[in-house]
Amino acid sequence: MSPAERLLSVRERIARAAKLAQRDPAEVTLIAVSKTHPPEAIAPLIEAGQRSFGENRVQEAEAKWPAMRTGVDLHLVGQLQSNKAEAAVALFDAIHSVDRPSLVEALARACGKLGRSPTLFAQVNIGDEPQKGGCAVGDLPALLKQARDAGLSIAGLMCVPPAEVEAAPYFALLAKLARDHGLSQLSMGMSDDFETAVTLGATYVRVGSALFGARA
Ligand SMILES: *Cc1c(COP(=O)(O)O)cnc(C)c1O
Repeated sequence: MSPAERLLSVRERIARAAKLAQRDPAEVTLIAVSKTHPPEAIAPLIEAGQRSFGENRVQEAEAKWPAMRTGVDLHLVGQLQSNKAEAAVALFDAIHSVDRPSLVEALARACGKLGRSPTLFAQVNIGDEPQKGGCAVGDLPALLKQARDAGLSIAGLMCVPPAEVEAAPYFALLAKLARDHGLSQLSMGMSDDFETAVTLGATYVRVGSALFGARA
């Protein structure tokens, strides 16, 4: 399949899953996660009309994107060090990995200084896995309050559920947490499980390998 055909296929699968859940497919934004892939691999998707892209490292995105940025929105989906918060706020339209008090502070400072306000997601460590980013479920209320008090608007929640097990219960839990906190946006679902995520309310799916092929 060509990149354009893969894009069409992923979009069709999103639309089918949305209809199954009686949702409007237009409520779901497809983020093409282009981490590790060179500009030559990304250009065909932009030509085919894809407009939202995701990266997981600030430095890689800074090197790759400014030259081909026109009309594209960029999402940071990877963990963010506080000392890179300003660079991230300068480059990205959305940051999906707000997960701890020090980062909230750094982002509030960077947003104030640069006069920018990227769309922010609080990342939840939904499977309580020590090696993963995201705040503990129990710490979410305090993190959201801290962000609010710092003048940051959190649009929704993001998660990466445990690998190798059924993702649906984790997506359902994230959706419930978002509802409980009055948050409308849900960033969940990757190549292996984006249809499940869409049926459970995802408003952003982050899809890499199903669009670009396997990463090296
Ligand atoms: C890499 C990555 C993705 C995309 O993963 P695929 O399995 O290739 O679709 C999505 N979200 C995050 C946070 C990632 O790091």
